Amino acid sequence: MKTYFRLLSFAKPIEKFAIPYAIATILAVICNTFLFTLIGPLLETLFTPKDGAHAATMIDKASSFDFVGHFNAYINHSVDAHGKLYTLKIVCVVIVISVVLANLFRYFSQRIMEDLRVHTLLKLRKRVFDNIMDLHIGFFSSERKGDIISKVASDVQVVQFTVTNTLQVVFKEPVQLLFYIGVLLSISVKLTIFSLLVIPISGFIISKIVKRLKQQATQAHESFAKMIGFLDESLGGIKIIKAFNATERIKKKFHDENIFYSNLTRKMTRRQQLASPVSQTLGVLVVVFIILYGGNMILTNQGSLTSSKFLVYIATFSQVMQPIKAITDSFSGIHSGIAAGVRVLDLIDTKSTMINAPDAIVLNDFKESISFQNVDFDYGNKPILKNINLTIKKGQTIALVGPSGGGKSTLVDLIPRFYDPIGGSISIDGHNLKDINFESLRVLMGTVNQQSILFNDSIANNIAFSKPDATREEIITAAKIANADGFILNTQDGYETNIGDGGNKLSGGQKQRICIARAILANPPIMLLDEATSALDTESEKLVQDALYRLMESRTSIVIAHRLSTIQNADIIAVIDKGEVIETGTHTELMRKKGLYNRLIEMQTFND
Ligand code: ADP
Repeated sequence: MKTYFRLLSFAKPIEKFAIPYAIATILAVICNTFLFTLIGPLLETLFTPKDGAHAATMIDKASSFDFVGHFNAYINHSVDAHGKLYTLKIVCVVIVISVVLANLFRYFSQRIMEDLRVHTLLKLRKRVFDNIMDLHIGFFSSERKGDIISKVASDVQVVQFTVTNTLQVVFKEPVQLLFYIGVLLSISVKLTIFSLLVIPISGFIISKIVKRLKQQATQAHESFAKMIGFLDESLGGIKIIKAFNATERIKKKFHDENIFYSNLTRKMTRRQQLASPVSQTLGVLVVVFIILYGGNMILTNQGSLTSSKFLVYIATFSQVMQPIKAITDSFSGIHSGIAAGVRVLDLIDTKSTMINAPDAIVLNDFKESISFQNVDFDYGNKPILKNINLTIKKGQTIALVGPSGGGKSTLVDLIPRFYDPIGGSISIDGHNLKDINFESLRVLMGTVNQQSILFNDSIANNIAFSKPDATREEIITAAKIANADGFILNTQDGYETNIGDGGNKLSGGQKQRICIARAILANPPIMLLDEATSALDTESEKLVQDALYRLMESRTSIVIAHRLSTIQNADIIAVIDKGEVIETGTHTELMRKKGLYNRLIEMQTFND
C-alpha cells in the first residue's frame, strides 16, 4: 500500500485531474443509471393497460427514494394526459439524450484519465533516468545493464498502467456500484441484501486465484531483464559472434530465455483471466436465484414488486457485475504493478555516493599541482592501489606505465573523482578533492580514452559534445588540430555525417581523432589520456600521435602509455605494478636504474 501511494505521488498535482474526473464520472454514472431505470417505464407504457386513477395512486405510493416508482408514476401520468404513442416518443427521446450524455461524460472522464496516465509516466520516467544519470560510476559496474534498461523501459510502463488503472477503478466503479445498489435497494431491500452476498464470496475466491501472481511477476521481470541484457550484449558483440560462428549458439540461448519468459507470462495471464469468468459465473448464479425468488414474489403477490420493476431490477443487477468485475480485474493485475513499482522505486531511491559537500569549493582554475598522498583504493574486495604518492606539477606530462591490470586506469579515474580513495587523499592546488564541487573539478579536465566513446549523432555534434555552444569555426579548428578535418571532409555529408552507433561507421584512428578534437574544443588545463595507438596502423598512428602531442601542448597531462616510445620525453614516468608505484623518474633515469621500466623497454624493442 505504501508503495502504491508513493507511486501515486508522481501523479501530482493530482487535484488537477481528480476533480474534473470525479465530476465527469459522476455525471456519466448518473446518466448511465438513469438509462436502466427507463426500461421499466418503457415496458409499462407499451404493455400495461392503465386507467386515470392509477397514475395518481402511483405518485402517492412512491416513497421519496423510490426512483423507479417515481418514473413509472410520471409515465403513467403522461399516458393519461397525452396518450401512449406520445409518451413512447418522449421515453425514446429521453433514452437517446441520456445515452448521448452518458457517453459524452464517459469520454471526458477517459480523456482526463489518459492525461493523468501520460503525465505520471512522463514524471516517473524522467525521475528514474535523472537519478540513473546522477549515480556514481561504481553503481554501473555492479549493476546489470539489462536490469536498468528493463526498469526504465518496461517497468515504468507497467507501473503507470496499474496505478492509473486502479485509480480509475477506485474512483469510478464504487460510485457506479453505489448508484446501481441505490436503484436495487429502492426496488427491493430483501432481494438486494441477498444478492450482494456474492461480492465477498467472489472476492475470496479470486484472492485465492491471484495469490501466486506476485511471485510469478518478479520471476517474469528477472527473465525479461535477462533478455534485454542479452540483446544489448549481442548487438554490441555482433562482429565477434559472427566471427566465431556463434550465431546459432546465441540464438538458442536467447530462445531458451524467451521460452521461459513466454511460458511464465502465459501462466500469469491464464491465472489473471480466470478471475473474471469466475466472478461472472457466480454473478449469473445469483441472477438465476433472483429470478426464482423475485418471480415467486410476483406470482404469489407478496410485497409491492411489479413485473416491470422486477425487470428493471434484473437489468440493473446484471450491470452491477460490471463494476465488480472491473474491481476484481484491477486487483488481480495490481500485483505485477506493485512488483514493478518496487523495482522502479528501488532505482529512484538508490542514492549517489558521490555528492558535493554542502560548502564545496568551486574551482575556477588549475594553478599548481595535483598530489596523491598515501592513496589506497579497492573496488570492494581486494586492494587495487596501495599507498600511492605522486605529485604532478602544472605543465608537466606524467606517463603511467606498467603491466596490464596494475591499476593505471584506476589511478587516472580517481583524478576526476569517479571514485573516492578509501585511504589517504588526493588534492588539487592544496584542496582535497572531497571538498571540491566535482562538476567544477571535471570542467578542468579533458579525457581521451582507449574505447573512443562516441554517440550516434553527426560528427559536428560529437565534437561539440564537450562544448555544446561551440561555433562551426571552433569545431573545424579543433578538428584541424586533431588531424581530423581531412577525413571528415571526405565523408558523405562532411561534418553532418552520422557516425552510427558508437561511431561504428568510422575506423579506429578516425574515432580517436574525433575524441581528440572533442577534448581540444573543451580546452581544459588538465588532460587525462589513455593512449591506444598500438591498435592502429603506422599511418594513422602517426596522425593520432601527432594530434595527441598537440593536445598535450601547454597542458598538464596524465598519460597511460602503451607505446613506450611515445613517452620518452615525459617529465615523470611512474611505473605501476600490482597497485604500487615501484619506480619514478625520467626515461634516462629509469633506464639507468635497470628496473622494470628498463625490462619493459627491452621487451617492446624486441617485439618491434
Ligand atoms: P590497468 O589500467 O593497469 O590495466 P586497471 O586499473 O584497469 O589496470 O585494473 C586494475 C585492477 O582493478 C584489475 O585487477 C581489474 O580487474 C580491477 N578492476 C578494474 N575495474 C574494476 C571494476 N569496475 N570493478 C572491479 N574491479 C575492477
